[in-house]
Amino acid sequence: MNSRYEVVIGLEVHVQLTTRTKIFCGCSTEFGQGVNSQTCPVCLGLPGALPVLNRQVVEDAIKAGLATNCQIAPRSIFARKNYFYPDLPKGYQISQFELPICEHGWLDIETGESGKKRLGITRIHMEEDAGKLLHNSDNSSSVDLNRACTPLLEVVSEPDMRSSDEAIAYLKQLHQIVVYLGICDGNLDEGSFRCDANVSIRPWGQKELGTRSELKNLNSFRYIKQAIEYEVERQIDVIDAGEKVVQETRLFDPDAGVSRSMRGKEEAHDYRYFPDPDLLPVDVSADWIEQVRKNLPELSTAKLQRYQGEMDLPAYAAGVISSERPLAEYFEAVVKYYNNPKICSNWVMGEVLGALKDKKLEISACPVTPELLAGILIRIDDNTISGKIAKTVFEEIWQTGKTADQIIEAKGLKQVTDTGAIEAIVDEVIAANPGQVAEYRGGKEKLMGFFVGQVMKASKGKANPGMANQLLKKKL
Ligand code: ADP
Ligand code: MG
Ligand code: ZN
Repeated sequence: MNSRYEVVIGLEVHVQLTTRTKIFCGCSTEFGQGVNSQTCPVCLGLPGALPVLNRQVVEDAIKAGLATNCQIAPRSIFARKNYFYPDLPKGYQISQFELPICEHGWLDIETGESGKKRLGITRIHMEEDAGKLLHNSDNSSSVDLNRACTPLLEVVSEPDMRSSDEAIAYLKQLHQIVVYLGICDGNLDEGSFRCDANVSIRPWGQKELGTRSELKNLNSFRYIKQAIEYEVERQIDVIDAGEKVVQETRLFDPDAGVSRSMRGKEEAHDYRYFPDPDLLPVDVSADWIEQVRKNLPELSTAKLQRYQGEMDLPAYAAGVISSERPLAEYFEAVVKYYNNPKICSNWVMGEVLGALKDKKLEISACPVTPELLAGILIRIDDNTISGKIAKTVFEEIWQTGKTADQIIEAKGLKQVTDTGAIEAIVDEVIAANPGQVAEYRGGKEKLMGFFVGQVMKASKGKANPGMANQLLKKKL
């Protein structure tokens, strides 16, 4: 925290929706296809072509609005934002201006430094994306309009964040929400979730906001943090040198770790916004909103609370498991088959995530299904196998897809709980290690671990460790 200046940050996030078709035409939105192969007169901006609104985009916007505590406008309006750029064939972007679909939302975040805090969301509006410029080796440029007219939500925050940490906490939470909702693939590299950060500083106690700069090209959480921190230092230097911060757009260069001025910042009136005469107002009925509300999935924050509360999981485990919806759903399915959340979470966090990481797989591709995993836990619980053998069983299931019971049976992995059999092994171990026996009897009780280890080894892991322990104590 700076002693003289307060940092103020507001974020604009562009969320690319996962609808199959574009926002105003039937072209496919699939990523990575041949240049200009997904275009039609509408998204090419040919004269006379008329846009038709994709209903799914409105529904996704309602979902995002409800999940971020916004009010959903019964009527919202599309507007033209006019500017010239070669990737924008119509010469204007269809967006929303005066009447966006969602307003007045908020998210609660928590950071180490400032604890719990509520951050305002000014608005969420629907808009179309622009195309992409391709810069060729012969110094010419081409334009690919596959991305033109793909649907975006723009989520605009209030200038409520006071540090880069708060900005990142907000972004991570928003990211989690849109991915949980299934309306965005969340891929930062491919630009499915892009953030512009508006940053200013002001002397502590001053009411008015300082002049902001807007940072663009931030496609990872780490760069966003770096860019904000660099920008705060830069603005402090400017003011300390007796100069004024100018309102401008700056581009962050992650390799150099600095931002550079890109252009002066436009004001809204420069865009000559006006309602788009080609599109009807968007009317959203109360019924529709209710329908969407009823079908919203349980979100990560709700899961986090439930896992820590009802299920009594430690904060860390609850945080990891709730962070991704497929992982949370996997875990909840395991608990359905074996109702001991703590043990289930230990196995999900340990064996399952470990093996997935090793093999570079997503949870959706995990060969050990929740039912198969629960099958192992049930057999540990009823003392059929030890925790150690259970790990071998897990690996076998991973390889073969068989059930725990099939593997235990086929490989003879049942725990030995027959006193006579364990006793025989205990006797062997004692006979084979006279030195350690003497030390143990001389008071070195730590050696019990060694003896139990030997018995487990001799029984190939199958002796019941508790019984081995008891018998050893008796005999030693
Ligand atoms: P635009 O950038 O399109 O002109 P706005 O004026 O609505 O749009 O502001 C965009 C974002 O900038 C919002 O998230 C807002 O909270 C933030 N913002 C506005 N003024 C400041 C400021 N002085 N310092 C930091 N953030 C600001
Ligand atoms: Mg902006
Ligand atoms: Zn099209």
